[in-house]
Amino acid sequence: MNKASSVATKTRTREALIQALVDGDIGFHQLPRDLPTDVQAEIRRMALQVLTGARLEDVGYYSLDVERASCSNCENFIGVAQVPMGIVGPLPVQGEYVDEELYVPLATTEAALVASTNRGCSAIRAAGGARVHVEDVGMTRAPVFRTSGLEATLKFLRWIEERIDDIRRIAESTSRHLKLLDVRPRSFGTTVLLRFRFSSGDAMGMNMATIACDRVVHDFIEPETGVECVALSGNYCVDKKPAAINFHEGRGKRVFAEVVLDAQILKRILKTSARAIVEVQYRKNLLGSIAAGAQGFNAHYANLLAAIFIATGQDPAHVVEGSMGITCIEAFGPEAVYASVYLPAVPVGAVGGGTKLNTQRESLALLGIAADPGRPGAAAMRLAEILGGVVLAGEISLMAAFTSHDLARAHEKLGRGPGASDGRPGRA
Ligand code: NAP
Repeated sequence: MNKASSVATKTRTREALIQALVDGDIGFHQLPRDLPTDVQAEIRRMALQVLTGARLEDVGYYSLDVERASCSNCENFIGVAQVPMGIVGPLPVQGEYVDEELYVPLATTEAALVASTNRGCSAIRAAGGARVHVEDVGMTRAPVFRTSGLEATLKFLRWIEERIDDIRRIAESTSRHLKLLDVRPRSFGTTVLLRFRFSSGDAMGMNMATIACDRVVHDFIEPETGVECVALSGNYCVDKKPAAINFHEGRGKRVFAEVVLDAQILKRILKTSARAIVEVQYRKNLLGSIAAGAQGFNAHYANLLAAIFIATGQDPAHVVEGSMGITCIEAFGPEAVYASVYLPAVPVGAVGGGTKLNTQRESLALLGIAADPGRPGAAAMRLAEILGGVVLAGEISLMAAFTSHDLARAHEKLGRGPGASDGRPGRA
């Protein structure tokens, strides 16, 4: 037994454990495991207060299932970060998995985002709804291998091709819901990248894909070929980094949404005109994005994705992939516009990860999202379709705001309310 665990075992009182943390005799992860999670969290908070002088009062108020959260979502648990949540809608969305009006929760600290998106929902409602379509591209993981050069690489790739059925059998044995779709190689010098692509049912699938790749690589590919896997993720997956391959080939769900806005809707609800919004589209989303070398030819997909991801328990880091995409706003007759959004890489799930947490489950329930064993994958597809409609609502409203110079005004009015800049803490 090392010094830290012996201190943790012998030291049973709360005060003694706080002191042991403060003195560095034990680490935050070394509190006695049989202590209830909320007691451990309190001891960590107390020690942090002594160590830093910061007051941690609100962090300790929560209603979530701490045992579950601390064992499958967050280590060294100390409490929660609360994020305000607003509602937009009703938003009519028509797709394969959704055909109804929805109220959509957005968790955000950016004032004006909810109000603006709500205006976009009104415009879409007046236009008869957003038409959406989603394709399940699949989740990817790409281990990287080292060979001795071209000849060994070609032999290795031939072997992968010949043994693909065995690879599939081993990968799929790790999960009841995982299906291997394909393995795409890329090689140069002594490096080989294998991009495994899986469908993962109603889960986003990143853990499932990683576990399956680990099993295939370490139990089969390496021992059978003698080719060493240098890292289970070779950054060709590509997870949580902006990348052209995800833009072109997609990752997770590929999402499309569209609406036609007539002159009345543009004028009455969005306070703009076809000519003005098309010009902003051209000079901002197209020319400005080209000049910047951007991969997001859009106004703010990331805002809507982040807000829904946080509300519904998705991994917020996947906003990186989701923020890529192309908005189109073009003339449709003399005074109307056709508006659409295209998001090629949106990793989302209705089960697994953060979707199990209490408030996140309530948000999913608000959207009518629950996995149904009779329709595998349908719940995740429904979430992606709804996302398409909300991103479209956010996009048309912000684009219109640029034409009427409302962007700064709205943020000034809504983001700098009473008490926002007087240095007072948020609580009364
Ligand atoms: P997960 O919570 O690890 O796994 C999903 C689980 O749900 C599986 O055990 C699956 O069981 C079960 N399941 C039950 N009903 C299902 C259904 N209808 N469809 C699909 N699965 C069902 O979730 P994940 O989506 O694979 O991974 C998400 C997590 O990965 C997030 O927390 C994210 O932050 C994290 N993440 C991990 C990595 C990594 O490299 N590991 C990278 C990025 C993010 P069966 O397996 O038996 O089917």
